[in-house]
Amino acid sequence: MKLSTREWLIAGTLASLAILFGALLDAYGATLFIAAAIWIVLQRREFMELSRWAQHPLSRPSNNLLEWQLLAENLYRSIQNSRNRTKGALRTLSTTRAITNALPDAAVIIEQGGNIVRFNSAAEHMLRLAPSDRGTNLASLVRAPEFLTLVRKDAPESIVEFASPFDGSVRLEVRRINLPPNHALILARDVTQLNRLLTMRQDFVANVSHELRTPLTVIVGYLETMAMENLDVETLKDILQKLEPPTQRMRALVEDLLLLTRLESSAAPEPRELDTLDLGAIVRSCIAEARVLSHGKHRFDADMERDVPLLGVESEVYSACLNMITNAVRYSPEGGVVAISWRRTSHGACFSVTDQGIGIPSEDLQRITERFYRVDFAKSRVRGGTGLGLAIVKHVLKRHHAALRVESTLGAGTTFYCDFPDSQLPLTTTEIQEAK
Ligand code: ADP
Repeated sequence: MKLSTREWLIAGTLASLAILFGALLDAYGATLFIAAAIWIVLQRREFMELSRWAQHPLSRPSNNLLEWQLLAENLYRSIQNSRNRTKGALRTLSTTRAITNALPDAAVIIEQGGNIVRFNSAAEHMLRLAPSDRGTNLASLVRAPEFLTLVRKDAPESIVEFASPFDGSVRLEVRRINLPPNHALILARDVTQLNRLLTMRQDFVANVSHELRTPLTVIVGYLETMAMENLDVETLKDILQKLEPPTQRMRALVEDLLLLTRLESSAAPEPRELDTLDLGAIVRSCIAEARVLSHGKHRFDADMERDVPLLGVESEVYSACLNMITNAVRYSPEGGVVAISWRRTSHGACFSVTDQGIGIPSEDLQRITERFYRVDFAKSRVRGGTGLGLAIVKHVLKRHHAALRVESTLGAGTTFYCDFPDSQLPLTTTEIQEAK
């Protein structure tokens, strides 16, 4: 051990004093012994100081002699470094824990045999795990044959899908990722909604193809007849007339599909995109179109409260009204009355269309706004429906913050109500004048 200048100074002073007093008193042995004892006491004091500090090493050490001071400082620095490293590691750990807990997917770490080591919050909910389940075999808590195979010792990395043993309507997709040397990560996610969307997409494509195929088959049939036979002008005219309904049907279907796609895929209109609409005028145009469909065989009765303008996108509101009014014609017998009304309510305003038609069975009411859902497929087809009308109505209302209600009695008739909130009604001229 090398001595510092200060220690040399102390040692030198002690030795000089020992020699000096030794010469004076003629007792070198005694004075050197006393000097050595003082030196040992000093060193001992430093040692005690270091031991005292070692019991609470978070404060700065207070050794005075340089060698001891250096030693104590080095120890203090390395303790501080390792404390900082531990703090950093703890911070990383808590961030990682927060991230895993925020994940919507369940994550469980298991040992080779399947015993649970650790899991995140989503696992508590999705796999019904509780903190006390640590150490328990995962397969014994989530009982599904597919899951058992996945959790099994040495199972290869793979994915399985099965109905949740806790809620049969939920489909779980579970993936195993091996973590060498002897752990595995089990990731589970709820794929119910995804599966539903995939099925909806498949159904939608199948429905559209089916809807288009029928009129196309008719058109192709007539075209083949025209090509093969030597037809006179009258027959040709007759065939051309027969070609019109399926062609119109395809056009209506494509137009409704495009409108529905636009309504579904675009954001709700901004306030600046809304016009102040006169529903009375819109309903008059709709009735004129509905009369063509009705061939004058229905009566229209419109009771429209004046001075109740609506904030909306005209083309969308027009489509919604037209669909409800033409449905009233389509599904009610000749001579039926179609009553249309628009009036203020305590919360806003209500538009309604009532018919005296065939009515809708209560079990179908929930589904009639689904795309291509029909209570009676043949009747809808024969009457020229595309199966998309009420889906369009539903989306238009949603984009205008309005709600659809339906009341129906089989064989007696149906009423569609559209409830618009106050926020969709601008101040009327009368209200503005009254406010002044
Ligand atoms: P469609 O083009 O077939 O009329 P919609 O989406 O407009 O399609 O309506 C879905 C189904 O709801 C219709 O097929 C019909 O069965 C039923 N429906 C709609 N409006 C009425 C009504 N006013 N009276 C009776 N049934 C109706």
